[in-house]
Amino acid sequence: MIPQGIPDMIPPGSTIGMLGGGQLGRMSALAAARLGYKTHVFTPEPHGPCAQACAAETVADWDDEEALAAFADSVDVITLEFENVPAPALELLSALKPTRPGSRVLAITQDRVAEKSFANQLGIGTAPWRLADDAAGIADAVRALGPSIAKTRRFGYDGKGQAVIADPDRADTAFAAIGHAPAIVEGRVDFTHEISVVLARGLDGQIAAYPAVENHHTGGILSSTIAPARVPAPVAAEADRIARRLADALDYVGVLGVELFVTRDGAVLMNEMAPRPHNSGHWTIDACPVSQFEQQVRAICGLPLGPTERFADAEMENLIGDQVDRWPTLIADPGARLHLYGKLETRPGRKMGHVTRLLARSGQQV
Ligand code: ATP
Ligand code: MG
Repeated sequence: MIPQGIPDMIPPGSTIGMLGGGQLGRMSALAAARLGYKTHVFTPEPHGPCAQACAAETVADWDDEEALAAFADSVDVITLEFENVPAPALELLSALKPTRPGSRVLAITQDRVAEKSFANQLGIGTAPWRLADDAAGIADAVRALGPSIAKTRRFGYDGKGQAVIADPDRADTAFAAIGHAPAIVEGRVDFTHEISVVLARGLDGQIAAYPAVENHHTGGILSSTIAPARVPAPVAAEADRIARRLADALDYVGVLGVELFVTRDGAVLMNEMAPRPHNSGHWTIDACPVSQFEQQVRAICGLPLGPTERFADAEMENLIGDQVDRWPTLIADPGARLHLYGKLETRPGRKMGHVTRLLARSGQQV
């Protein structure tokens, strides 16, 4: 059964170690199970979305070295669905088992300054930005950049840890709003579209990329994705080129999400990278023969990557907070593919599930 000529392959029947216990891990575990792999999740929070779909669960803190070592011992390869795994935990794990993506990638993607510097060094444009360690730094940056967004360098997600600021005299308020944390200040990009590219890169450097998709946010949280993005072909091609360039330069292994802005004059700028399957790639479960989650399994296990062709266009809508209460209507809708994450508690702003609608290439629902 084991194909010849695939060095370092981790075959079906092996156990994948998953760091982080949320819905991305859950959907990865489901894809892993389909290919005959088991998943063991390491998470500080018990009985989450991922654990419900896993063969084994370790509930421990990221600084519990004994638990980390026992976890590594029980798995064949390690990946993650949570990009803020602390560096010491990753270093401990990667010394014991192949960890993909690894600590160099995480060091870059965990810090908005390192991430934007990395892109800029490759000649990839971003919003103009400045480092700011205090309110005075934020004020200086806003004077230089005009209307801006102050963001914590680390630990931001779903628009958390961000403050919009146009007036340098409001720097104290902005600095307080982001918890007095070290910051990056970004000039506000006047974009026509927010798009993203999700790709997988294998151990051999081969890349499989899905088409650029279009993302819409409400209150800083992704609300919907339209696949493919309604942008001119050269814009989509440029987004694809940027995402591949980043993945190659990181010597990336696994699934990478790259968020981008399309400016009014058609330039494509990187916003940020996610070193894991991405919310804007959920449509691939229903519209593509091989989903982003299966690509993640294939990439980290050294299997050949799958095709990224789609058999339909798609629209994905996140079910956030009590929007999940619509599930009885959605499940009865023959055109809706419903995905629920099994979260035990509904909270405002929490991603509870998503629904995908397939559209024929003509735009008609199929
Ligand atoms: P997520 O976890 O949803 O990806 P995040 O908290 O990591 O988000 P960003 O992606 O940096 O944060 O920002 C969230 C949203 O805020 C962006 O998708 C975009 O709509 C808006 N935004 C962020 N930075 C800028 C910018 N420099 N100019 C204009 N809009 C921006
Ligand atoms: Mg983002």
